[in-house]
Amino acid sequence: MPPKESFLPRSQWPFEEVLSDEHTRILELTQVYVTRVEPKYTSQLLKFTQKHLPPLEHLEHCKRIKRVTSSETNELVLTAILCLCNHLDLTDLKQLAQQYDITIEPQQIGVPRYAPKNKRQFEEWNPVWPVTYREDPRQDPKWTKDDLDTVEDHMRQLMTTGPTDDDGLNVYARIVDPKTNTVLAQASDTRHKGHPLHHAVMNCIDTIANKERQNKQTTNIDESKRKHLDDDDDDTQAAYLCSGYDAYVTHEPCAMCAMALVHSRIARVFYSVPTETGCLGTLYKIHSHASLNHHYKAFKNLLLDDPARTPFLHFPNPLDA
Ligand SMILES: [Zn+2]
Repeated sequence: MPPKESFLPRSQWPFEEVLSDEHTRILELTQVYVTRVEPKYTSQLLKFTQKHLPPLEHLEHCKRIKRVTSSETNELVLTAILCLCNHLDLTDLKQLAQQYDITIEPQQIGVPRYAPKNKRQFEEWNPVWPVTYREDPRQDPKWTKDDLDTVEDHMRQLMTTGPTDDDGLNVYARIVDPKTNTVLAQASDTRHKGHPLHHAVMNCIDTIANKERQNKQTTNIDESKRKHLDDDDDDTQAAYLCSGYDAYVTHEPCAMCAMALVHSRIARVFYSVPTETGCLGTLYKIHSHASLNHHYKAFKNLLLDDPARTPFLHFPNPLDA
């Protein structure tokens, strides 16, 4: 049997994951009325809440009942959520309970407003009120030493590429198929040659689009990619071209490049140097924007302090990578 793969803790990663605001937010509370309930009356109380009280909108992540074993009496203490405070007046709540012959002792408390998106939030919020959480391996990426070595190799190769052109910005990008570890495209920033949109990432995606176009007649390329290549619209030209691929960029991509990577369905982006107009962490987090129909993972500061990067330290930080 092969040895079990061991994953490195986040603190040992050579980069930092650029998490969405949802993933980094701190505990926010929503006020609800709760009541202590005797175990034998639980089902009666739950029926009452379901039938006669307003539903717990947007609190589906909160468990209805909190169970705590009293440390003094070793007795099980149950507390149940009745309803949101802003949905029902306390007087009306008491009246309703009386009307249906339910004994309650309403108390106002705060429960987590949002569902936890990761383990850290879950561990922090669950003691306040029990919440549901299912670990999503895609949200919690795992890296072995070998995985990280591969990622570092790609970035180091990019960093030692330049400078190739005194007039250029020395921004480099490459796109890799992580399944085979094949470099599919590599490009530098060529804006200075007269085209303002020829950023390194755009040039890389163009290279892949051209290759796909050439392959179109000869090989059986992915049908979904073929469909989009037939589209003349510039915006959709990149669509689906990079499904499952990784992009490495020496500098944080600008809004145009970050969006092109969304359209291309890139899976992960690794970059080293954050930029003033960067949109994967600095100004925006386009890769995780709620309104977009594709999200990708972004990792920053890769090899930021690596000796291999030294030549890059002397280059001006591009305004717009
Ligand atoms: Zn750009």
